[in-house]
Amino acid sequence: PAERSFVNEPHSDFARAEVRQAMSAAIAKVRSQLGGRWEPASTELALAGSWLESRNPARPNELVATVRGAAVDDVVRAVQMASERHEAWRRRSAAERADMLRSAATLMNERRFDIAAWEIAEVGKPWREADADVAEAIDFLRFYADEMERLAPPRRLGDRPGELNHRVYGSRGVAAVVAPWNFPFAIPTGMVAAALVTGNTVVFKPSERSSLLGRMITDIFFAAGVPPGVLTCLPGGPEIGQALVAHPQVATIAFTGSKAVGLRIIQEAARVAPGQPMVKRVLAEMGGKNAIIVDETADLDEAITGVITSFTGYAGQKCSACSRVIVHRAMYDPFIARLREAVMSLEIGDPMEPGTQVGPVIDARAQAGIERYIEIGRQEGTELVHCPVNRPGYFVGPTVFTDIRPHHRLAQEEIFGPVLSVMTAESFADALRIANGTEYALTGGVYARSPANLALAREQFDVGNLYVNRPITGAMVGRQPFGGHRFSGVGAKTGGEDYLAQFVVSRVVSENT
Ligand code: GLU
Repeated sequence: PAERSFVNEPHSDFARAEVRQAMSAAIAKVRSQLGGRWEPASTELALAGSWLESRNPARPNELVATVRGAAVDDVVRAVQMASERHEAWRRRSAAERADMLRSAATLMNERRFDIAAWEIAEVGKPWREADADVAEAIDFLRFYADEMERLAPPRRLGDRPGELNHRVYGSRGVAAVVAPWNFPFAIPTGMVAAALVTGNTVVFKPSERSSLLGRMITDIFFAAGVPPGVLTCLPGGPEIGQALVAHPQVATIAFTGSKAVGLRIIQEAARVAPGQPMVKRVLAEMGGKNAIIVDETADLDEAITGVITSFTGYAGQKCSACSRVIVHRAMYDPFIARLREAVMSLEIGDPMEPGTQVGPVIDARAQAGIERYIEIGRQEGTELVHCPVNRPGYFVGPTVFTDIRPHHRLAQEEIFGPVLSVMTAESFADALRIANGTEYALTGGVYARSPANLALAREQFDVGNLYVNRPITGAMVGRQPFGGHRFSGVGAKTGGEDYLAQFVVSRVVSENT
């Protein structure tokens, strides 16, 4: 195939009136369709679970959708079907499967405002971020389609006379995709697309906090030509995920979520059941405790903006979010004074409103968990600012603590909310030591102008994605392949050139000629 050069789908420009109008119209349409029932089509596996309710986190009284859930028995039937369909699916050409991904991308692009509007309603994402999530899903589809065409042709190895060696990639079998709610469109789309395009069949469990978006993704894959059964969506809770991961016919598990669940999956996957065809492979994208270092040579304006964006974007519910900032002592006083002001001026409110910067957190359980950490922060450190929020819904006001020490719980544990701890460092080396002092290694940032310190950060800041003089969230497919190591995850970076290789078996054929 011709060399394609991948270009990211542009984000919508809401500064333009017609773009704002299109989004407002989509939101109005969603509002008129709230509370609908979503079931699998008659061509799909009929699900026997109970109805799952999605509620608007900004207005919990508002029912967004009821989605038919899966029962544990459905897992067995879905995996069985995926296993039977594998042979036919893997025999389709790579180009055909890649073109289905591209068709899905086109469909998502046509419906992007509708999808974003449902996302705003179901998980409380502000406009820009919901739009970016749909754009990222489109990117994953196109990028993995291109990648598959790059990987598919058998590759000749060596040039020894009398010998012909070829490496070919084949599929592994049934892939289980267990997805999160925080990027409820892009992340599941990426994992499902990667598994499908490499010739695997897929049983996909969306997070029960975003069942509707999981349903919508699945319908788009079907509309793009993926046969039901090659892909099955099983909306449901942890019991569905557990049964899926434990099924002996599942060869690959692609998971994004918490460290606790990821480690449990890794443990479960290591058990071998009678009749199991192969050792299970687990790809797990887990948490982060990401730090930004503000050096004494930093541009303070840029640093404040970058920290605010990174810690309050989607109310801190990104595994890439900043939850620690380590400030050089010489910058400390001006930094915290300006940070306080910047936090106080954030626009907190209903994500359906275009101007909202910080919306609610996902549900009552998340809200209570974050509030517990705020209590712990009050004991461990000093509250610099806690934005008051007086509205119903699962809101947590952005909160910043100072006087946090590196061993404190606030400096070590992932909170997944808009809570930031500020620490001080005596030198850049000290800052790096503090930054590296957690069990995670996902994202990190440095605001500095000193070339020597930037060089030190490049060499010693131990994270999967290091960002210099810019926010630490919002990795772009193809340009910033995303993922961490240590307890932030196992497996290759998403949106990168190594990702698809995890879904294949590699065979080498050597012929004596
Ligand atoms: N890829 C996202 C980012 O760079 C984070 C994904 C996640 O939270 O899992 O912000």
